[in-house]
This record gives sequence, C-alpha cells and structure tokens, in this order.
Amino acid sequence: MTHSRRDILKGIGTITAGAAAIVATTAAEAANPRQGGDPDRRWGMVVDVRKCIGCQACTISCIMENKVPENSYRTIVATYEVKDGDRVGTYVLPRLCNHCSNPPCVPVCPVGATFQQKDGAVVVDGDRCVGCAYCVQACPYDARFINHETNTADKCTFCAHRLAAGLLPACVETCVGGARTFGDLNDPNSTARKLLDAAKGEAKVLKPEQGTAPNVFYIGLDDRFQGRVEGHQTLWQPSKTHG
Ligand code: SF4
Ligand code: SF4
Repeated sequence: MTHSRRDILKGIGTITAGAAAIVATTAAEAANPRQGGDPDRRWGMVVDVRKCIGCQACTISCIMENKVPENSYRTIVATYEVKDGDRVGTYVLPRLCNHCSNPPCVPVCPVGATFQQKDGAVVVDGDRCVGCAYCVQACPYDARFINHETNTADKCTFCAHRLAAGLLPACVETCVGGARTFGDLNDPNSTARKLLDAAKGEAKVLKPEQGTAPNVFYIGLDDRFQGRVEGHQTLWQPSKTHG
C-alpha cells in the first residue's frame, strides 16, 4: 500500500446523500435490456452506519479480493466531521457502486460494455470496454474509475465471482462491525430484505434527486446534519419508500 492510499484510508471525506423511491422499470432499462444473471433475484446491500467503526477492513479486503490497483477503490469508508452549533459529529459512510436500477453509467457506453444483469448488478465487460471513461463521468457517485493496469472501466461488481461460488461479497464477509448486509431483495426471507422492511421507511439512499434508484441502502444516517457538509447542499433526506 502506498503512502497516498494510507492517507486516504484514514483521511476525511465528504458525502452527499439522500433518499429516493425505487423505480422498477425505467427508460434506461427499456433502451438497454438487462443481460445475464438470475431474473428472479434482485441483489442489494443494506448498510447500518451505526455499526460501522470505520476500520476499513472492507476497503482492504476489496482491494485484495479484486486486485484493485494503487490509488483506486471499489469501496471505501468516507469519514467526515459535521458541526451543529457547539456539537461536532464524526461520521463514517461506507461507499460503493449503488448498482442503480436506473444507472446513468449504462446508456452512455458507446459499445455496450457496461450493462445491468437481470439480477440488478451493474457490471463491465472488460473485453468490450474501450476505456473512453464516459461511464466514469456519468456516475454521480464517483463509483467508477479507469483501471490504469487494464485501461478499462472498473468498479464494484458485488463480487460477482464470489456470488457465483455461493459466497458473500468480500466486504460483507470481512465487515468487523457487521454493518454491511447483502442479499436478494426479492426474497422476503433474506436478511437484507428483512432489515429494509424493519426500517419502515427509515432506510435512505444517496443522492435521491438524481433519480438513479440505488440498490444500496443506508440505515442510521443522522437527519440533523442534512445539508451541513461544506460544499454539499444535500446530504440525505427522509425516505419516501425503502425499496
Ligand atoms: Fe453506475 Fe454509478 Fe450507479 Fe454504480 S453508482 S450503477 S457506477 S451510476
Ligand atoms: Fe463503455 Fe468502457 Fe467507455 Fe465505460 S469506459 S463508457 S464501459 S467503453
């Protein structure tokens, strides 16, 4: 690990966050039909930020599992401070690709290299990708990057290779605080689905105003600090639905 990577891991980040209704079928989906994956599943993640201790075990395990190159991240835990009068809060927010149901990264790809699977995961076909970075620019979450070793777009895949082997994503498997829960949101008996249902609308998604309909949900975000991070007008908003 380089010095710069260590700095980032312990450094302070800023976030924008919010809530959005989930859109089952979108114009983007109609124009870019889903390919592969199990159509009966809908993969998603629920992150309980109250359980995240900011240890970055998830970040490190992702780097190792997916051979993420230096100075790039498929997931990271942003740490930020917010002032509310005399009160100063320090918060952590695990971040990754949201595997949006309405992903702006998909329609901009000129060669169809980035697409949604039928299980909802948004993936990149490295053999087709020409490295133009249109998708990187289109993602409102800064969740993509161009891998400087492969010269193709790179991002979280929900550890598709591990899912195929019946395993959990590496970040979920290694989460020290048990903050990350992954599962099939179509399955009423999955832990992820149960967590969302139990949250009764308190689960939130990042940047709801973008209309991306993320499949990564957050529980325990503090509404008191909405919009208070310098340089960002929107942190998060109360959910209208919880997926
Ligand atoms: Fe695409 Fe970004 Fe949404 Fe991931 S978070 S699906 S990269 S728009
Ligand atoms: Fe498509 Fe690759 Fe260009 Fe992204 S970088 S838009 S995946 S060709």
